[in-house]
Amino acid sequence: MTTDITRLSAAQLAERLAAREVSSVEATRAHLDRIAAVDGDVHAFLHVSDRALDVAADIDRRRAAREELGELAGVPLAVKDVLVTTDMPSTSGSKILEGYMSPYDATVVARSRAAGLVPLGKTNMDEFAMGSSTEHSAYGPTRNPWDLGRIPGGSGGGSAAAVAAFEAPLALGSDTGGSIRQPAHVTGTVGVKPTYGGVSRYGAIALASSLDQVGPVTRTVLDAGLLHDVIGGHDVHDATSLPDAWPSFAEAAREGARGDVLKGLRIGVVKELPDSGFQPGVAASFRESLARLEAQGAEIVEISAPHFEYAVAAYYLILPAEASSNLAKFDSVRFGMRLDVPGGTVEDVMSATRDAGFGPEVKRRIILGTYALSAGYYDAYYGSAQKVRTLIQRDFDQAFRSVDVVATPSAPTTAFRIGEKIDDPLSMYLNDLTTIPANLAGVPGISVPSGLAAEDGLPVGIQFLAPAREDARLYRVGAALEALLVDEWGGSLLDRAPDLTGNDVKGATR
Ligand code: GLN
Repeated sequence: MTTDITRLSAAQLAERLAAREVSSVEATRAHLDRIAAVDGDVHAFLHVSDRALDVAADIDRRRAAREELGELAGVPLAVKDVLVTTDMPSTSGSKILEGYMSPYDATVVARSRAAGLVPLGKTNMDEFAMGSSTEHSAYGPTRNPWDLGRIPGGSGGGSAAAVAAFEAPLALGSDTGGSIRQPAHVTGTVGVKPTYGGVSRYGAIALASSLDQVGPVTRTVLDAGLLHDVIGGHDVHDATSLPDAWPSFAEAAREGARGDVLKGLRIGVVKELPDSGFQPGVAASFRESLARLEAQGAEIVEISAPHFEYAVAAYYLILPAEASSNLAKFDSVRFGMRLDVPGGTVEDVMSATRDAGFGPEVKRRIILGTYALSAGYYDAYYGSAQKVRTLIQRDFDQAFRSVDVVATPSAPTTAFRIGEKIDDPLSMYLNDLTTIPANLAGVPGISVPSGLAAEDGLPVGIQFLAPAREDARLYRVGAALEALLVDEWGGSLLDRAPDLTGNDVKGATR
């Protein structure tokens, strides 16, 4: 039996492409066929490229001509719709940008193209990346490939679902409060939020500029490292981009999978994160992972991060404040939708357009943010939140004096049911408990699949956090744990996911 191309990791596919055992056209077609077969159910994509096969053919031609190509050349890539692209619409999940065509590519997209990756399409997301379930997309929710009645996480549920459903080996996401890591957690995939400033946000439609980062969503830690190597590094177009020279994250992942990086590694566990806040299966998987790491020579150290419990409250002031200002540019004049208001003033047109173009969650946050920034309330809300942010940064500084990485469950629960939290913003926000601190402090984080929760059989992830600029550490530790688990399971977690085409392999292999 020939291997199904879509089941290969990006690294495996890249090897076969380089050896010319598979062409990029074949690989791209296999993924487009998979999208055609399952995306009616999953709805990971808002737009599928009509140029992908041409781009793939061009890579094949260049390979045949023995041109020097990047390691991932010819591998298909899904792109979160928050990233602007010249050849596909970019809506950020909003009606207000329906059909919007950007005059330029986001830097991460331009770098991906230059490395020979083949953009397959744009993935679904909560409107303007606000949410934890993709239910706030103006184009309908994405469904979790593990259980189509459940959410794939958010805001980048489309990217995570595409990768988990084998519709793409690699995807790009953005993470402002967890939108890469939490979807990875609920879909059994790997997600990385790089150090703030590590990856350019030029062409990433801004949500909250002091928190936003772009990063990889993949099925393996090595694949995430390979993609991070392509998209990362200094960019003159992003004023917050760090000028640092970064090590190869793929190399770090390979080192982690090979070596004994766990010996003597000090892993901090936050004592203030109460076990009771987590679904039993999530807490159990976390403890099992720690035990495994300990058995390999890591030291588990209890650390104190007393301000983590205020992170959600601070974040939901800072984020709406920045978002209300970033979204002011959708004013019916410069971008996207404009409603006709016969006889109306400019203000009438703006107001009618924003009323019709924005969904309820976006409006909620614009109102919250504008309020938090208004005269008389600024100090009490925005000012206090910024102070809490500083305290959380200090918690991390303090913790990293005694440990190499911090570990937490990636999110409190497994995938919840579609509709379960949509009318309860607070319970939706509380999902972000463990992911938000990293954004507030600017430190990098990775979510790696750690098992299935006993009570519902759904995927669970473990999150590792490292000091700013130490992203490589996350790839080492993540790959080391992944190697242990894959060994133990005799394959990856996603081998146990439903096939989605009616040929349910799950029953056959279990
Ligand atoms: N759940 C977070 C929020 O709703 C995630 C946002 C993000 O990372 N884009 O704000």
